[in-house]
Amino acid sequence: MRYIFENGNSNRNQQKKLNNSNFSKWMISILRRSKEIGKVEIPICSIILDERGRCIGRGVNRRNINKDPLGHAEIIALRQASLIKNDWRFNECTIITNLEPCTMCASALIQARMGKVIFGAYDKKRGGLGGSIDLSKHESAHHKMEIIGGLLEEECSQILQIWFKKLRTQK
Ligand SMILES: [Zn+2]
Repeated sequence: MRYIFENGNSNRNQQKKLNNSNFSKWMISILRRSKEIGKVEIPICSIILDERGRCIGRGVNRRNINKDPLGHAEIIALRQASLIKNDWRFNECTIITNLEPCTMCASALIQARMGKVIFGAYDKKRGGLGGSIDLSKHESAHHKMEIIGGLLEEECSQILQIWFKKLRTQK
């Protein structure tokens, strides 16, 4: 597992450990939901937590179901959370998703001023936060996000690998 941590005192590190075990719990529920959606869509699920760790948005990939090129899990979760927050700014929020956001979603998260982005598997082909290109560090990014990649990386990669393998054998 790869984590990116800030430097801090031990108290803060303790807090981060607690937070990360919480994030892992969320990731496990994301993986469960991804498997369900995997019957009709790429198994991707995203949730958004507010500053108190409450889930205010959830989305699964719905590109095929909705016939919507913007129907990525992150965008759907952002739309739902915006309605609940009644705001487009997410500085104090965290998004957790099982696959590294693509370039469209990475840009949307920068536009939304997301505080923290946590993802499981890296996407070396299309990832917008380090896998292929890191838009969060690009000079066009006016907002800096904290990014933690590789949370439960193996489990997250496995679900996607199985899904793509199945897709190939069906063709
Ligand atoms: Zn996307």
